[in-house]
Amino acid sequence: MNYFSLNHKAANVNFEQATINGIAPDKGLYFPEKLIPLEQSFFENIEKMSNTQIAYEVIRQFIATSIPEQELSNIIEETLNFEFPLVKIEEDTYALELFHGPTMAFKDVGARFMARCLRYFNRSKKDEKIKVLVATSGDTGGAVANGFLRVKGVEVIILYPSGKVSTIQEKQLTTLGQNIIALEVDGTFDDCQAMVKQAFLDEDLKELNLTSANSINIARWLPQMFYFFFAYRDLKHLNKNMVFSVPSGNFGNICAGMLAKKLGLPIEFFIASTNINDTVALFLKSGAYQAKPSTATISNAMDVGDPSNFVRIQQLYNNEIETLKKDFSSYSFTDEETKNAMKKIYSTANYISDPHGAVGYLGWQKTKEKFPNSIGVFLETAHPVKFLDTVEETLQTKIEIPQQIKAVIDKKKRSLNIKNYKELKAFLTLG
Ligand SMILES: *Cc1c(COP(=O)(O)O)cnc(C)c1O
Repeated sequence: MNYFSLNHKAANVNFEQATINGIAPDKGLYFPEKLIPLEQSFFENIEKMSNTQIAYEVIRQFIATSIPEQELSNIIEETLNFEFPLVKIEEDTYALELFHGPTMAFKDVGARFMARCLRYFNRSKKDEKIKVLVATSGDTGGAVANGFLRVKGVEVIILYPSGKVSTIQEKQLTTLGQNIIALEVDGTFDDCQAMVKQAFLDEDLKELNLTSANSINIARWLPQMFYFFFAYRDLKHLNKNMVFSVPSGNFGNICAGMLAKKLGLPIEFFIASTNINDTVALFLKSGAYQAKPSTATISNAMDVGDPSNFVRIQQLYNNEIETLKKDFSSYSFTDEETKNAMKKIYSTANYISDPHGAVGYLGWQKTKEKFPNSIGVFLETAHPVKFLDTVEETLQTKIEIPQQIKAVIDKKKRSLNIKNYKELKAFLTLG
């Protein structure tokens, strides 16, 4: 299995090269050349399969010969060492909790998988180092820092906007040390992202083996298919169609679910639920894609005005908007609506959702009537503790701090301040 660039100017490459490149030399996102649906017997027997067995069957064709079977099994086993429970919220409505990993957001799955793939690809390189450069609005930084900690031959450089991530998120990405370096940027998330993009484009930095750990990297994106299959396995006995509502920012997570559907997973419909950063919802109405600057919201991990993975979704549907609309829709919600949803979920189901999960809940509420015989699953993409102030203030309650968070909260923050691209470049070439 090879990958082609969605800009169609770069050479096709295998899984290993696509992971190491991150983005294709023509700046396009990589996309699988072909998709082979899973066998009927896989879906018939799925209830008997463990998470790791399912993950292995799902990802195998995408890795091909880049990683030997036993090694791939080990990588999956290490990646998936936590649970993905479904919680019933109300009749025909479930939350799929993706936050039981070490940094308590779904990004742990992709980050842990990608880190272990790079560790394998680096196994025999002595001095050569891969530098993973990543911009974060909050959750990616922590997941990548944790996933890549102590991975040999890989150095991770995280850019985050000073004062614009939550205290817990900042601790998660600045306290680990070792091969993880945090650069605190005097600016916004968009500034961080722009600097990272510029570094990838910079001819002077070609020698550095820079790669990305954002969801544009296939090794971070593809494993996000797994939990759609787990949820299907766990709800199959209800004999109902399934609709997924996915809180979306860069649209990597929902795009992985839609890829799972292409492999035969019987999902009836996808809802991309967003905050007021509504580029995709507007596109579906007008047919014209217009990126815009991001606006800050209480669901900050989704403050994205130009979602990078949306081109992959379009590719899955041959760039035919009418075909896409049969499987997919997008709705946007204000912070006010999000807080009201959090309150409603808390008062009726005694369930504490984080702002992102609440946006997902709203998307399903909005569409539910069109799917009277289906169950809706919204993804609970982060633990509410990661947005402690918003959640405690909105719900007027205290959240218990889980062990994973206690472990970092008292550690000392270490970061380097940078102001602009020149300083980043100096750091990369000298550091
Ligand atoms: C990253 C993130 C999202 C958005 O996921 P995308 O794949 O970028 O659409 C949603 N919720 C949380 C909590 C996140 O950290």
